[in-house]
Order: sequence, then C-alpha cells, then structure tokens
Amino acid sequence: MQLTVEALQRWIINTNEKMQENKEYLSELDQAIGDGDHGHNMARGFQEVVNKIEDNSFEEAGSLFKQVAMTLISKVGGAAGPLYGTAFLKASEQWKEKTTIDQETFGKGIEAAIAGIKTRGKAKEGDKTMLDVWGPVHTYVTNQPLERENLKKTAKEAMEKTKEMKAKKGRAAYFGEKSIEHVDPGAYSSYLVFEALAGSITNEGDANG
Ligand code: ADP
Ligand code: MG
Repeated sequence: MQLTVEALQRWIINTNEKMQENKEYLSELDQAIGDGDHGHNMARGFQEVVNKIEDNSFEEAGSLFKQVAMTLISKVGGAAGPLYGTAFLKASEQWKEKTTIDQETFGKGIEAAIAGIKTRGKAKEGDKTMLDVWGPVHTYVTNQPLERENLKKTAKEAMEKTKEMKAKKGRAAYFGEKSIEHVDPGAYSSYLVFEALAGSITNEGDANG
C-alpha cells in the first residue's frame, strides 16, 4: 500500500464532506452527553482546513498535515479541536518529507497521533473518547493489510462499542452512569475520519485516482 500526498489530501477533503453531512447528528450525540456543539465544531474546523489546503499542492505529507493541524488547533473551539489538531501535528512529524506513505509509516503516524491525544487529554482507551476509535484502528493498521471494507468495519465497530462505556474524561464524564447507552460524539467523528480514509484508497490499498 502506498498513499500519495494527493490521496492524503483527498482523505482530508472527504473528511470535511462527511463532517458537513453529519453535522446535525454529531451535535445530537453531543446534546445527550455534552453541550451539543461537536457537529458545529467539526464542520467549522474541517471547512477551515479545506479552505486552506484545497488550492495548494503539497510536495510532501508533513507540510500538508502540519497545515491541517494548525488550522484545527487555532479555529476549533471545544476539547476536540485541539485534540484532533495535536493528533495530526504528531502524525505530520512522522510523515515529514514523505511523498508517499507506506502502511508501516502510516501506522507510525497514527501511533504518534494517539500519543499526542493521550498527552494532551490525559485519557486512556476505555474512557469513552475518540481514543476508543483511534486505538483499534491503529491495532488494525499495524496487523493487517489496509483494505477499505475492513478499515471501515474496524472503525465502525469501535465507535459502536463506546455506547456501552461509561465516560471518564471530558464533559461526558459529568453524566456518569447516564453516559452509558450513548455513542461518544468524538468516537463518531473519528469513525467518519477513517471512513473518509477508506474512501480514499482502493481495495488493494493503493491511492484511488
Ligand atoms: P467539548 O467537550 O469541549 O464541547 P467537543 O464537543 O467538540 O468539545 O468534543 C467532545 C469530544 O471530545 C468527546 O466526545 C470526546 O471524544 C473528545 N474528548 C473530550 N475530552 C477528551 C480527552 N480528555 N481525551 C480524548 N478525547 C476527549
Ligand atoms: Mg461539546
């Protein structure tokens, strides 16, 4: 599998489309166990990202993701913006000066992203956050060939599992037991991120035109 810079740029553009399409739903999820702004935060943030990157061509993946990260950190309110921003910033360091990314390098980026989310947010897997999707995706990427249907399935099942969890971090933690039976909004937006990635690769894992 090789992801070109163009494929990675398309990943981010696809992610924005999904955030716009699911804006209301993400906010509904956040109304149940938060303050109801997650859809607004994600839709606004990724639109700003796309405004910044769509007319540029990037020579290497590091500068693309640094731009993505800086925009998310500076433009998105709420906890999730800086957490996503940190994730992409840490990934960008692993993808510096790469014109194509193989699966191993991709996995290193995701690993660094997770470490960044953990350092910034002090959460761990099982706390009912976005990490509960990023973690299983990382495990999948490091153990199996990247394939679109399996990637989607992994992210979706991980997102659905957050429903049974009790929130330990972020605003949802204030809901205690009442957070159970609701999908975590950040887990859902992370599922959209990886669904968008699946849409940017072919079944063989190569960049899709
Ligand atoms: P806010 O909670 O400030 O309103 P958002 O609604 O945009 O921000 O984002 C909420 C999501 O952020 C949660 O659903 C969760 O997935 C994620 N989140 C919140 N706090 C943390 C944390 N400490 N570590 C990891 N993810 C977190
Ligand atoms: Mg919120």
